[in-house]
Amino acid sequence: MLKKWLGLTAPQASLYSAPLPAAEGGLEMTYLGTSGFVLKTPQRTVVLDPYLSRANILDTLTKPLHVQPGLIRKHIPHADDVLIGHAHYDHILDAPALCKLTGARLIGSVAACNVGRAAGLPESQLVETHGREDIACGEWTVRGLPSIHGKAIFGRVPLPGDMLTPPPWPPRFHQLKHGQVLNWLVDTGSLKIVHIDSADFIPAELQGIQADVVCLCAIGRKHRPDYVKEVVALLKPKWIVPCHWDTMFTPFEAEPEQIPGVDLAGMVREIEAEGVRAVVMPMRGKQVFSR
Ligand SMILES: [Zn+2]
Repeated sequence: MLKKWLGLTAPQASLYSAPLPAAEGGLEMTYLGTSGFVLKTPQRTVVLDPYLSRANILDTLTKPLHVQPGLIRKHIPHADDVLIGHAHYDHILDAPALCKLTGARLIGSVAACNVGRAAGLPESQLVETHGREDIACGEWTVRGLPSIHGKAIFGRVPLPGDMLTPPPWPPRFHQLKHGQVLNWLVDTGSLKIVHIDSADFIPAELQGIQADVVCLCAIGRKHRPDYVKEVVALLKPKWIVPCHWDTMFTPFEAEPEQIPGVDLAGMVREIEAEGVRAVVMPMRGKQVFSR
C-alpha cells in the first residue's frame, strides 16, 4: 500500500553490472543493502555496516528494534572484523550480534563501541578509534578517516549527536545517534577500498589516498555539491560501487526498493562521466575485484 503510494520500485535489472573479469587472488565483495558489505579473501573477512534485521517502516518508527541472529548467521557465517562508519541503527544494529556469533572485533568510534557495550559485547571484542591510525587486521590494515554525516533527510543531518555512554538495548531507532563518522580505508595488501557510508566527507582527510574501489553512499548525495566529482578527483578509483540506495525497510531476502529521489541511474551516469567504472550490485550480490 505504502509502496504503491510512494511509487517504490526495485532498480531496473539492466542497472546491475555484469561480473567483472575473473583473476587469481581477487577480493570478493558481497553487497548487503544499505551501506553493508562483506570483503573477503582466503585470509580475511571484514564486514562493514551490516544491517540485515531490517524492520518495516511502521515497526522501525514505533517499536524497539530487534536483531535477527538466525538471519545474520545464515548470510554472514564468518567474520574477523566488523567496521562501523557511524552509529545510526541502519549501520550498527546487527554488528554486536555478528561479533558475538563469529568472535569478530567491532571497530569504530566511541559511540559505536558504546552500542557494542549496550548489547553485551565484551571489551576484548571492542576496538575504539578516533581515526587517523592504522589498525592491524590480520595481514590487512584498516584506518578510519574522520568524516561528517550527509544531509540525508530533507537536506538535514538526521539524529545528530554522540553516545558517550551505552544507549538502551534493544534501542528505538532515534536513540542511536551517529557519533563520530568515519570513512574506512581497507588495505588488503593488493587492493585499497574506501567506504563512504554517508554522503559527505572531509576532503583533507582523503587527500593523498588512492583507492582502487570506493563504496559510495547514494542517499543525500544531491545535498553535497560535486560529491561524485570530488571523490573521484581525490581518490582516483578504478571502480565505484554505489550503496545506501535502498529503503532499508524491505526484508533482507526480498527485492529491494529504491529510496525516492536517489536516482541510482543518474548516479551511475555521473560516475561514468568522470571516467570511472560504476559497479551496481544487487542485494546479496557478489563481485570479485582484482588488480
Ligand atoms: Zn546515518
